[in-house]
Amino acid sequence: MLSAYKYRLYPNEEQGVRLKRTLRSLCDLYNWLRGEKIRRYKEEGKSLTKTDLRALALQARRGSDELQEVYSQVVQNAADRVHIAFRNFLEGRARFPRAKNYKKYRSLTYPQSGFRLQGEVTKRGKKTELRGRLFISKMGEVRIFLHRPIEGEIERLTVKYEAGEWYACLITGQKRPEKPHIESIPKERIRGADLGLERFITLDNSESEGYPEFLRRSEEKIRMLQRSISRKKRVSKRYNQLAFQLAKLHLHTARQREDWQNKIVSKIFKEADVIVLERLSIQNILKNHNLAKSIADASFGRFAGRCIHKTDALGKHSVFVDAWGTTQFCFRCLHWVPKELSDREHICPNCGVKLPRDLNSARLIKRLGILALRRPPSDGGSSPAELRLLPSLRGMVSPSVEAGSHRF
Ligand SMILES: [Zn+2]
Repeated sequence: MLSAYKYRLYPNEEQGVRLKRTLRSLCDLYNWLRGEKIRRYKEEGKSLTKTDLRALALQARRGSDELQEVYSQVVQNAADRVHIAFRNFLEGRARFPRAKNYKKYRSLTYPQSGFRLQGEVTKRGKKTELRGRLFISKMGEVRIFLHRPIEGEIERLTVKYEAGEWYACLITGQKRPEKPHIESIPKERIRGADLGLERFITLDNSESEGYPEFLRRSEEKIRMLQRSISRKKRVSKRYNQLAFQLAKLHLHTARQREDWQNKIVSKIFKEADVIVLERLSIQNILKNHNLAKSIADASFGRFAGRCIHKTDALGKHSVFVDAWGTTQFCFRCLHWVPKELSDREHICPNCGVKLPRDLNSARLIKRLGILALRRPPSDGGSSPAELRLLPSLRGMVSPSVEAGSHRF
């Protein structure tokens, strides 16, 4: 299993200049490779493979003084990024890859080698300090602040520039814990979760978490700053100052959100072995023009990512189900109970159950998840339960409802 560690880097002035120059050269290379990929497809009908792109990148490196100054695997990694961008587009996960400008191209990756971390523990009185130096090929020794110890073998280094600060992201490999057999997990150790705009998360055991006040405040500050920026002249001094402040604020808010979500995830897995969530469709997220909704969708996506990461680390399971109809049917009897967004209660005329709308959804999601776990695999069990066909209400409810014109 891979773990990521992020540390602050303190390059000296010369190293900072060299890092920025490298980012520019790599950005130019990325855009050129993207253009080549499109051109060759249009003119020759040839789809450049990952290997082709890497070869082109190395060829470009041989002819460029600037790229000669960059570690060759870092140059190849820029080609891999072009390959991944097109693959994500072709597999429906992202938009068509756009050309990047210098402001958007902010990281370089040493995929296997070309770096070495040295840490030393020093004692000053009672205080223990962890000082570190990161040797980066073509950059030299860079000062690094190791705020927490690193475990496992370092496999990959990405240097990032975020709002005027440099960071090193180190990926380490650790042994993946054995996952318990998913079919044998008792129902009480399975948590169904509904993510929403009113409460961030509602669980089938009635627990819920709202959106914290500090996040609302940060988001409000971002909106205010964006409004004042839009009144300033572009490329004026004041504009640049505000743009920098805004970038810092975005970073700060992202960290707050990350921290808050990680706490929720940890709490859930103290008492559960499986989490069941709705699968979000990237198409719906991209189509959405409502700002509040699209921000929420993005944070749901990150939450799902954290759950997967956590379950891999702990040897637990994340299960996804089809979101179709999970707000419109009764969790107990599967009766159709249509609701508007403003209806906060679920009252079933068939079985008489009455409970908050989000709680009904969470229980219904759990029910679908259990179905997924207990269902005999269609492939003879060769793939893990998480990867089997998404369980859906579509096949479980009466056909007259499914064929009806009501939208979910
Ligand atoms: Zn009912």
